[in-house]
This record gives sequence, structure tokens and C-alpha cells, in this order.
Amino acid sequence: MMEHRTKVGNRLLAALPPADFDLLAPYLREPSLERDAVLIRSGDRIEQLYFPRSGTISFMLEMPNGQTVATAVIGNEGAVGIVSALSPSRSAITAVVCVPGVSWQISAARFSAALNQSNAIRHVVQTHTRALLAQFQHVAACNALHSVECRIARWLLHIRDRVDGDVLPLTQETLSELLGVRRTTVTHVVRKLRMSGAIRSDRRALIEVDRSRLEEAVCECYEVMRRRIDQIVSPEGMRHRTHSAQVGELPALEIPLWPR
Ligand SMILES: [Zn+2]
Repeated sequence: MMEHRTKVGNRLLAALPPADFDLLAPYLREPSLERDAVLIRSGDRIEQLYFPRSGTISFMLEMPNGQTVATAVIGNEGAVGIVSALSPSRSAITAVVCVPGVSWQISAARFSAALNQSNAIRHVVQTHTRALLAQFQHVAACNALHSVECRIARWLLHIRDRVDGDVLPLTQETLSELLGVRRTTVTHVVRKLRMSGAIRSDRRALIEVDRSRLEEAVCECYEVMRRRIDQIVSPEGMRHRTHSAQVGELPALEIPLWPR
């Protein structure tokens, strides 16, 4: 089972019993996620689902005036487009590859067909929905209550948790888009974080961070979010949900989070 998990790579899919995973396996493709690739655009019908094995994807909300802000960042603990599994829908966000990696990809129709045969897959959808809702809530609170410096430190740590190493392939432009603040504000805050040693260097579209110093600069939101999401998608948190389910004994699906 451990080998199965490591091979699958995405924590949601890895929680599926092999028989349930096999309902999806014939239809899974394994594309590379190129930096800045747009996986789904806001308003588009969701045709494809992505389950990253590595890298990170940001969920961007686009305002009518062209400003953007990130509402969530996911890595191998999450998925893109899963709300369409509940019913065919249009995306409320634009999903952009923030850090390159590899992903599983499956058509929304194939995933929905498998979901109708498997309570374990239904629970994967619910787990992801809960984790995403938790992230949205914390991001909303953090955006309202905490400084730009704390928020930059938080996104850097979220992304650091989802990549291998301290060098993050990010530009100040990307940070500006994630935070919904001006580039000049980002430059100012990055300079401040460099002076404190939380950012070691910032050049050629790479930001090298010092995790322990960043943790000193960040608000409590980071640790609270990390623990909460980790607990929701942990094998222990998902095991009883995905392994012993019999058809009919589980609660009804929650109401979809996003309006169509
Ligand atoms: Zn905060």
C-alpha cells in the first residue's frame, strides 16, 4: 500500500483503495505542468481535472478591472476542477501553474462516471472540497487582518512546503499577482525580508528563502492552515472514509461550493 501511495504521488488519489484507483487508471494521462500554464480559465466549462504529483497551482480570481488575487495554492494534496465532478460546471477561478511539476489529468466525464461507481472517489471529492474551503476561509481572514509582509511570507511558505528545496521559481510579478498588490509594494517588502534574512536572494526569477526566518516573519495563519489542511488530507483522516464505505451508508454530498 505504501508503494502504491508513493507511485500515485497525489495524496487524494493515493488515499483510494487500489480497486477504486483502477476505475480511473485507464483514463489518466500524465502531463507536465509548465510554468505559467493556464489549466482552466474563469468562466470556462470544466472539461479536464488535474491531480498534481509535484509543483504548485494557484487559484486566481480575476477582477473586472484586470487585477488578480490568489484565493488558494495547491500542490500534491489537491486537485483542479473537481467541483465539476458534482455536476457539470464552469470554473469560478483561473488555475495557473505557479511552480512546474507533473500531474495526473483525466476528463471530467470519465471522472464523474467513476465517481458514480465509488464511494471512495466521492469522499476524495469531499475531502478536497473541505481542504479548499478551509484554505479559502483562512486566506480571507489573513487578507483582512494581516500585513502584506505577513501575507507574502505566508504564500512563500505555502509554496516552499510544496516544492523540493529553498529555491522557489517565482518572480516579483507572480507575487504581486498572488497578493493583489502593486509590484512596488512587493519590491519594498521583498527588500525588507532580505534584510531580515528570510529571503536570501531574489534574482533571475528565483527566490531563495530561509524557512525558519520566514516562519518568524509570518502570521499565525500559516501554521494553522498547514496543520488543518494536512489533517484533512492525511491518510489517517481519509482512511475510514475511503476504505470501509458501502454504497448507501454515507451522508449525502455537500452543496457545491461555487455557483455555476
Ligand atoms: Zn495571516
